[in-house]
Amino acid sequence: MTNSSGAPIGTVTADANQPTQDAHCLTRKVTFVFYCAPRDDNNLNPMYTAVYGHDATHLGVTDSASYLNGLPFVVVDADARKVIYPYVSTHGQTAKFLAPVTSSGLHDGLRNVHTLPPINIPNDVTRIALHIANDAFELHRSFQLFPWTVPDVAHIKVHIYEIRADLQDKFSTENSLGSTPAENEIVAKPGATNEYFGYLNGDLWLKLSHEFTNDEITRLCPPETLSRPTLGSSAPSGSAPPQSATAGGTIPQGADQNGVTPQNVAQSVAAPQSVAIDWATTLQPIYSAGVDSRSMDAFSVQISQLGITLKFAARAVANAINTSANTTVQQALQRTSPRAFAAILKAAWRLNINTVDLSSSWRPMLGSRLHKMGVGLDVTEIVDSAESLDFKIHNHSHAERKAPFPTSAGGQKLARLYQELRGDNEVDAPYVYTPWLNWVEPHDTHMHITVKYE
Ligand SMILES: [Zn+2]
Repeated sequence: MTNSSGAPIGTVTADANQPTQDAHCLTRKVTFVFYCAPRDDNNLNPMYTAVYGHDATHLGVTDSASYLNGLPFVVVDADARKVIYPYVSTHGQTAKFLAPVTSSGLHDGLRNVHTLPPINIPNDVTRIALHIANDAFELHRSFQLFPWTVPDVAHIKVHIYEIRADLQDKFSTENSLGSTPAENEIVAKPGATNEYFGYLNGDLWLKLSHEFTNDEITRLCPPETLSRPTLGSSAPSGSAPPQSATAGGTIPQGADQNGVTPQNVAQSVAAPQSVAIDWATTLQPIYSAGVDSRSMDAFSVQISQLGITLKFAARAVANAINTSANTTVQQALQRTSPRAFAAILKAAWRLNINTVDLSSSWRPMLGSRLHKMGVGLDVTEIVDSAESLDFKIHNHSHAERKAPFPTSAGGQKLARLYQELRGDNEVDAPYVYTPWLNWVEPHDTHMHITVKYE
C-alpha cells in the first residue's frame, strides 16, 4: 500500500489458509461521487437562465430534480469484464445507490449528491468501468460507463457531474474545470490532487440505457389471449343500477382497497370477447414512432388491434431531448419497457378505454430511478367513448391526496383501471401512484405505473 507520495506504508502477506481473493494487496481505493442534475425550471438553474433566459422551450429537468436512490450499479474490471464491486456478486447481484445529500456548490442550483463507498481495486486490475441502471443487470452489461485506467495512488476521488449536454461548456468554465472532457471520459480535476471528473450527459444516458429489441419484447411480453366482458348486454353507463357480481364472487361493502365502490362494479355476464395478442407486433407502432425526430410536439399512436389510441403529450420526451444533443423520440420510446405499454393497453382494453393520454415514458434526468430505467409510465387522462366518459387524472386539492377515488363515473373508471393494473403480475403494484389512493409526492396530476425490471 502507498500513501499519496507513493512511499510504501505497509505490506500484506498472503497466508496459505486465506482464500485467494484475500491475498490481493489492496493498494488502491476509488470513491465515485455522483452529482445529479439540478432542476432548470422556475429560474432554479442560473446556467440555464444565462444561456436561454426565460425561454421555456429548452427546459429539460422540471418538476422533480434527478436522484439515484436504489439505482443498481456494479464496478467491473474493464478488460476482464469481471465484477469487482459489489465484492460478493453471486447470481449477478448488484449494488445500489443510497440516499443523497444536497449541495448547491456548483453554481447551477441544488443537486442531489450520492457518494459511493470507497471501492478496493485489486492489484491485477488496470482499468475499471461502471455499469449503471438496467445496464447493471447481469443479462445486459453492454455499455461500460467511464472506462478508465486507475492511477497508482492510494485513494482517488472521481466526481461525476450529471449535466445537460448543452450546458457542459458553461459548467466547465463556471467551475474552473478547464475544457469539457470527451464523452465517457474521466480526466484529472484541475487544481486537485488525486481527483478526477467526468460528465454524465443525456447522450451518455442514451447509450447506457437499455434499448428493448423485438426478441426482448417477446421474452418480456409473450403472446397471450386477452378477454373482457362483451359490451352492451348490461351496464350501458355509469348510472346503471347495481348488479350482483355473478362472475366475480362476493363484493365487500364500501370501497375496496382499490377504491372501487360496489355499485360501479357492474359486470356483464354475457360471453366474454377475446383477442389473441402478439405483443411484438402489437407494440410495433409505438416503437416505430418518432424516427429521426427530435420534435417535442404531441403525437398519437394507434394500436389498431386493440382499438386504443395512445396520445403522448407535447413535451412528453422533453427531458430525453433537451438533455442531449442527439436523442430522438424513437430512441426514448425504445428505452421504455414493453411491459409498461402492455400493462396499460391490456388494462385499458379490458375496461373499454379507447384513448389513454401519456405525459412521460423513459427519461434520463428527471426524478427517481423508475423512469430512468424505463419501467415508469405516466397516465394523465382516459377516455371511454362508448360511455361518453373523459376523465383527467388530477386531484383538486391536497385534501384529496390518499383519499378514495372520486365517486363520479370517471373516478370509478380510474379506480377499476388501478385495480386492473395492480392485479397484473408484470406491474410492481406498490409503485402505482395516483392523485388519490397511494399518493406520494409529486403525483397530483397523473397516475404513475411501474412495471418489473428484467
Ligand atoms: Zn412517473
